[in-house]
Amino acid sequence: MTKREVYETDVVIVGAGNAAMSAAISASENGAKVTVLEKSPEKEKGGNSTYTHGSIRFAYQGVEDLKQIMPDLTPEEIAETDFGTYPDEKFFDDICQLTNYRTDGDLASLLTSKSFETMKWLHAHKVRFVPIYGRQAFKVNGIFKFWGGMIVESVGGGHGLIDALHNEADRMGVDVLFDAMATELIHDDDGVHGVVFKHRGTTKEVHAKAVILASGGFHANTEMRTRYLGPKWDLAKVRGSRFNTGDGLKMALDIGAMPHGNFSGAHAVGGDMDAPEFVEGFQKLSYPFGIIVNAEGQRFVDEGADFRNYTYAKYGKAILEQTGQFAWQIFDQKVTHLLREEYKTKYVTKVQADTLDELAEKLEGVDAKAFLKTVKEYNQSIRKDTPFNPTVKDGRCTEGLAVPKSNWANTLDEGPFEAYGVTCGITFTYGGVKINTKAEVQDVLAQPIPGLYAAGEVVGGLFYFNYPGGAGLMAGSVYGKIAGENAAEFIEKKSEVGISK
Ligand SMILES: Cc1cc2nc3c(=O)[nH]c(=O)nc-3n(C[C@H](O)[C@H](O)[C@H](O)COP(=O)(O)OP(=O)(O)OC[C@H]3O[C@@H](n4cnc5c(N)ncnc54)[C@H](O)[C@@H]3O)c2cc1C
Repeated sequence: MTKREVYETDVVIVGAGNAAMSAAISASENGAKVTVLEKSPEKEKGGNSTYTHGSIRFAYQGVEDLKQIMPDLTPEEIAETDFGTYPDEKFFDDICQLTNYRTDGDLASLLTSKSFETMKWLHAHKVRFVPIYGRQAFKVNGIFKFWGGMIVESVGGGHGLIDALHNEADRMGVDVLFDAMATELIHDDDGVHGVVFKHRGTTKEVHAKAVILASGGFHANTEMRTRYLGPKWDLAKVRGSRFNTGDGLKMALDIGAMPHGNFSGAHAVGGDMDAPEFVEGFQKLSYPFGIIVNAEGQRFVDEGADFRNYTYAKYGKAILEQTGQFAWQIFDQKVTHLLREEYKTKYVTKVQADTLDELAEKLEGVDAKAFLKTVKEYNQSIRKDTPFNPTVKDGRCTEGLAVPKSNWANTLDEGPFEAYGVTCGITFTYGGVKINTKAEVQDVLAQPIPGLYAAGEVVGGLFYFNYPGGAGLMAGSVYGKIAGENAAEFIEKKSEVGISK
């Protein structure tokens, strides 16, 4: 057996997405020498984080706060925009409500209370933000009004965010090794001392005083999906990184880490039924302005239950549960101008017709007669006395239907009609390792495993059943920063007492 090549560092980080690079910058600015191992080749760096739009949710009190992270906001932009406010308590409340009060309260409250501070920290590290006018605001009476508690995105979207973090880490002297897949944690009774990894086919080791796991969830692992999420999840399409196969989670569980959170739950959305896996532009999320029908021609979710970013993460599962795992979103001409830009990408399965009868014949796999009955009943059930307003939950609802539509209900009666075929696309998984508020990984006896930290999707306990859009990046940044700080502090304390390995 040939002797393994061994690297030495202070902190080794597994993964090079948003959580990992936040941790790398944080550990480095706190004095640690940092090495990052990334499984993907350099050209695919950034994991799920590059698939995002860079939309990030944080608490803010008003425009004065926003000017601190977007100093380029012009007086004209400020004058013509109603940014509203999003207090810390509202962010916390949103997580509690969407998770049916299952969220780990300690982790969630730290996430929300540290969110604005962490945005300022990201800005100080050269991540640039702009308002998401295109996706999160509508113009009403000449004023852009934001809705849904999420108002900024990183410049250049997810790719821009990852490039900014990598550039900053590079400037700070962080080493990043690509094509480097962590396979095992080096550990003993004193804790974790490094990582075994495969670098372009060769097994190597990196010895470190602390390890931070930031390797994402297991959405791209069919076997784990089926084992944890249950039947049919092998049939979901993966809409994110192909590299998040649960490796970090498995390595941690192998040394006795405590599993935590909603292992049978995942973030999953409706997206183009014919798109290949791992592509950007898959999702189709303007359903609050239309209806969704299944193979039986029936509606099966309240499309207008809430703003899109409070429902989209759970409606993928609802589609997975339908016959054939597909559905069609239907819109008429009154609302097609409101469809998001992803309805114009190349991943679009679309049919169009001047009349509903004609449309019914074109909806592949759908019971045409039942579909027409559904639309007729839906049109008759709408309370037309309430005006349609996409910027608020307008209460324009249906009455008397078994599956209600609570907001933005408009009759489907103005052709040409458009229909989009969708299926379930999994984004990321909710179950992961248990950490405390210092991002220390806990063992099955509820004790921290010395030298082991985690951040991002690999952590469980924050999200159950559902998720507020933009919270994934924020969770990765908040806990990545905390993991980096505490790993650096742990190392310092270790060297003070002269323990070395
Ligand atoms: C299409 C899409 C859109 C999204 N939009 C948003 C959005 O706008 N806002 C938002 O907040 N969230 C969004 N999310 C969710 C968001 O991407 C995640 O919550 C967040 O990026 C997770 O960050 P992370 O650093 O934990 O994981 P990742 O960014 O996935 O990084 C994990 C990294 O670990 C690497 N890795 C895995 N295994 C190993 C191993 N064994 N060794 C070494 N490296 C390994 C992976 O290659 C990857 O680079 C979206 C997700 C998708 C897929």
